[in-house]
Order: sequence, then C-alpha cells, then structure tokens
Amino acid sequence: MNTDKLSKRLAMVASLIPYGSKIADIGSDHAYLPCYTVKKGTVPFAIAGEVAEGPFLSALKQVKTEGLTDKIQVRKGNGLEVIQPGEVETITIAGMGGTLISQILEAGKEKLVSVQKLILQPNVGAFAVRNWLLENGWELVQEEILEEDGKIYEILSAIKGDPASPYQENPEKEILFGPYLLKQKNTAFLKKWESELKNWQRILSKLDEAEESESTLLKKEELIKKISMAKEVLGK
Ligand code: SAM
Repeated sequence: MNTDKLSKRLAMVASLIPYGSKIADIGSDHAYLPCYTVKKGTVPFAIAGEVAEGPFLSALKQVKTEGLTDKIQVRKGNGLEVIQPGEVETITIAGMGGTLISQILEAGKEKLVSVQKLILQPNVGAFAVRNWLLENGWELVQEEILEEDGKIYEILSAIKGDPASPYQENPEKEILFGPYLLKQKNTAFLKKWESELKNWQRILSKLDEAEESESTLLKKEELIKKISMAKEVLGK
C-alpha cells in the first residue's frame, strides 16, 4: 500500500504526534504509521515494533519499498522490549485491546523514562488504559473518538503530569466514558454508548433468566451500575 494517505483512525493518531518527535510504534503491523509520518517530515526517526513474524516481515517490506530504511528501524520483539531507554520521545500503540495496551506499558515501564507522550488507540476497553495512566503518573490530556467503516475508535493521549486532574467530577464515570469525550458527547460517542447500553441490557436480561449464584449476582450488580451510568450520560 502507498502510505501517502492513512485510514481516518491512524491519521488521527498521527495528528497527535508532536512535530519533530522520535517515535516507537508498537504493534506496527505494516508500519503504515511510521512510513506516513516520516514521509510527511513530522517524525525524523521511528522504530516499528512487532512481536509476530508475519507483520514484522510486512513492516520490513513496506519500509524497504518506500526507501525509508535510514529513518525507520523495524524491530522484532514483545512490546516495549524493542526500544532502549532514551531512544524515543513518543510511543504510539494502536489497534489492540485496552487490556493488552496496559499490559505492554506495565511490562515496559522502565523504558518510559525519556518518553514524553503516549498516544494509545484501544479498539475496546479504553477504561483499562485510563486506569493504567491514572495509576502510573500519566495525565490524560486529549481524547478523540471517531467512526470509520462502521466501527468506533477512541484515541487517548497522555503526558507525564498530574494523573488525577482529568477525573475531578465523577472518577468512575469519567474512567469508563472518558473525561473529555463526556464533555463533547459527539455523534460517534453517542452511537458507541447507545450500542453498549443495548448490549448490557441484553446481557442483563439473560442473567435474569440464569440460575442465581454469587458470580451472577456480582455481574448483575456491575451491569446495573453501568446501565444506569450510560442512561444518565445519554440523557435517558
Ligand atoms: N498498529 C496497527 C494499526 O493500528 O493499524 C496494527 C494493529 S494490528 C490489529 C495489532 C498488531 O499488534 C498485530 O500486528 C500484532 O502482531 C501486534 N502485537 C500484538 N501484541 C503485541 C506485543 N505484545 N508487542 C508487539 N506487537 C504486538
């Protein structure tokens, strides 16, 4: 693929990278994001990290085809183990679940010393990423949500700072829905939570029919709480 144009989702991730910042894109697959940003001139040097052989080879091929081997290094390895402390200022991790993104950050904490910005795009479970940031001294400073090809994506950006400052009103609600996204409530946001609400209501009615046990009771309690928060957010 020619990387002159990215998907709307990856273009949003790219737009949040500070100009002139060296980046590591973890789970880079075809290395589209590093190729695009290096060609545009916003990124002087990039590392494309991949744990799996197939995507690693795709990244190598893409970088070679685009003639970018002097500015993009494709490295094979698990999470942040492909970078050395001090090598990059921005880390991007896109297109994975929020729990996996949090695990990658947790396992590679010592590599984050020189990192100034994290740009994270969880496909699901953004709350797990917000929780990790909150517990690890990273302040969420920007959130975006967009729809592409019928899917809704959240993009979170964080810097080292006061991790609790975005969650002043109702931390539980803000961690689930996103403190900045909650303020905007744009079309994609409303669509996402309408759909989640329906899904939770469906699961709850199934649990109502199931045999009662301690674990179903706990699940029901959790769902009832989330349903009530979603209704409030959606003004229902
Ligand atoms: N980042 C690209 C994007 O957003 O379009 C590719 C997303 S792709 C769905 C997820 C990629 O993450 C896969 O290529 C997978 O091999 C890689 N991956 C999963 N776990 C990883 C890990 N622990 N370390 C590095 N790469 C990982």
